[in-house]
Amino acid sequence: MKTDYLDKFQGCLIGVAVGDTLGHPFEGILREKIYSRFSDFKEFIASNKKLFNTYTDDTQLTLHTAKALIQGSGFNEDYLIREYVEWLEDPPIGPGYGCISSIQKLKYGISWKKAASNSGGNGTTMRVSPIGLFYNKDAIKLKNFALQSSNITHSHPAASAGAIVIARAISFLINKTIETEFSVDEFFNVIISSISNSREEIWDQFIEILNKVKNSLNISLGAGLIKFSQAGVKAPYFIEDYLGKAFVHPYTLSTVACAIFIFLKYLNSFEECIFQLATAGGDSDTVGAIGGSLAGVYFGKGNIPPDLIQIVRGYKDILKISEELWLKFKEIYITKSTQNHL
Ligand SMILES: [Mg+2]
Repeated sequence: MKTDYLDKFQGCLIGVAVGDTLGHPFEGILREKIYSRFSDFKEFIASNKKLFNTYTDDTQLTLHTAKALIQGSGFNEDYLIREYVEWLEDPPIGPGYGCISSIQKLKYGISWKKAASNSGGNGTTMRVSPIGLFYNKDAIKLKNFALQSSNITHSHPAASAGAIVIARAISFLINKTIETEFSVDEFFNVIISSISNSREEIWDQFIEILNKVKNSLNISLGAGLIKFSQAGVKAPYFIEDYLGKAFVHPYTLSTVACAIFIFLKYLNSFEECIFQLATAGGDSDTVGAIGGSLAGVYFGKGNIPPDLIQIVRGYKDILKISEELWLKFKEIYITKSTQNHL
């Protein structure tokens, strides 16, 4: 079946924004506390629209990544840095320390090698989806550019591992549809192989965690979130108080593990999937954004309920940027390869 790339590009980026917007009010809150506020999330959204009136840094930086790819007709480090520096004028909404501290240094012309923070936080994974989309036909470039895009602000190997895995997951899911479904084993093989055979101990640790996610898909959502909320987190960052509770840590490995776990448990409905992602607990907006990129590219815009798209502030602009990114992708990967075959 032919892939409707425009539908997939738009689904992915609007998926980030929907998850981020719905998760934003629940950032830093335990899952059990979130659920004490309502019994029906859909009704809660409808009667509390003001709570869901904005997305955050996750969507902002994703859009800046997309714009840099559009301007450079592909990955260009200088354009990416320029776009991230421009984000400071947006201004940033709920930024993470790793991102804001390094980007402020980039603004003053400090090279990224010196500017990058040693944060293993999820700030680079949450903005990587446009790279997964744009390089879906070239796994080598996808890996290199996902890695480089992460290194610009985060020198920690956990951050780059998350960015590579999510970009690769998006490139896998872009060719799947809800009609044809996909093999969960194949999904894990593909994403795990994207970070296999490295010299990074943390990448190997991430592979172990991803294997645990794969083998835990039969447990309940709540049990899985408790299991993976702080996966890979070490002292002094581990939060003792949240042991045995669903509160997703902003460390890359735990956030990505939870986002993938939830996504794979809700493959039948975008709405159900995004509702669970955005109410994960802890770093809910980023679980919503990362999981939303996976759900969005898998389901495609055509399978996302219009009322969920319309809840996103400036959704028309996001759809337009997605279309511009798709046009560039088409120009480079579709039109040229068709011409080569003529
Ligand atoms: Mg955020």
